[in-house]
Amino acid sequence: MTEIYDLIIIGSGPAGMAAAIYAQRAMLKTMVLEKDVPGGQVINTYEVDNYPGIPDITGFELSTKMREHAEKLGIEIKSEEVVDLLLDQTVKVVKTTGSEYQSKAIIMATGARWKKLGVKGEKELTGRGVSYCATCDGAFFRNMEVAVVGGGDVAVEDAIFLARMCKKVYLIHRRDELRAVKILQDSLLKHDEDKIKILWNTELKEVIGKDQVEKISIINNKTKEESILDIDGLFIGIGTDPNSQLIQDKVKCDEKGYVLTDDSCQTSVKGVYAAGDIRQKTLRQIITAAADGATSVYAAERYILENF
Ligand code: NAP
Repeated sequence: MTEIYDLIIIGSGPAGMAAAIYAQRAMLKTMVLEKDVPGGQVINTYEVDNYPGIPDITGFELSTKMREHAEKLGIEIKSEEVVDLLLDQTVKVVKTTGSEYQSKAIIMATGARWKKLGVKGEKELTGRGVSYCATCDGAFFRNMEVAVVGGGDVAVEDAIFLARMCKKVYLIHRRDELRAVKILQDSLLKHDEDKIKILWNTELKEVIGKDQVEKISIINNKTKEESILDIDGLFIGIGTDPNSQLIQDKVKCDEKGYVLTDDSCQTSVKGVYAAGDIRQKTLRQIITAAADGATSVYAAERYILENF
């Protein structure tokens, strides 16, 4: 008879690895399934400076340490892409490209991805001056000049946050009005142009630099005038997309596809949990992802005890 796991964790970022550590400690028979590059979005963060107790570490190193910790406790990790989930039954089924597994509970920890602009140089210089997270990387640009792309809450908040530490911030927005809520707009507009300069109707054409961002090429989409801006860092805040394609039609999600859960990370389907950036939440950081990993295992353990 096919073996039944207590728990299958899908995703190996901080939420998945924290869940793996807690599951091993709870002695649940657990497997982690990961796709492509292990470690989640954190591996793209050059330096992580806000994870308590570990002040100087790269995203890659922190991710590796989390994995080593889980492996030391004996976790089984398989690199297999999950292609389907059967959740509408007591014992859930996880189908991958090559196999089929059964589990009493499932934790979805597949994260989210920052939307990319798709311009020349963006990919090559990501982690070398191009960042998608001002809270994570802003401190590395103290007293330097940076640009933020976007006009929503995230971009405006990022511009205000960066203005506290950077010499100058350019906010590049493709339209002539911001999408961000009024309170944020008011706070943004309190800064004088020497601190935060808004470039309206402007789009990014290219990120230029050899090993680090040195300049960007921009275009005014009304006048078609092109110019070059010398900057040290570029923050792209044009939204995120959750990696929830696998379960969007199986559990309740918000209009953007983020999975809705209760405080214990329980989704609308019993025995199915969502942890980390895939979940609708207010703060998407390594520490909150790791916390979700722990919380979801705590809930899954109780669910298994009560139902099997
Ligand atoms: P968002 O609200 O979807 O805004 C994305 C912004 O990026 C928009 O201004 C959009 O321009 C621009 N954009 C999108 N694609 C672009 C492209 N290809 N090129 C140039 N610009 C592009 O996303 P978000 O700001 O990341 O916020 C995500 C969610 O988190 C929102 O629901 C937001 O309310 C919430 N949030 C709330 C708070 C808060 O309440 N304090 C803080 C942070 C986030 P257009 O305006 O022209 O479409």
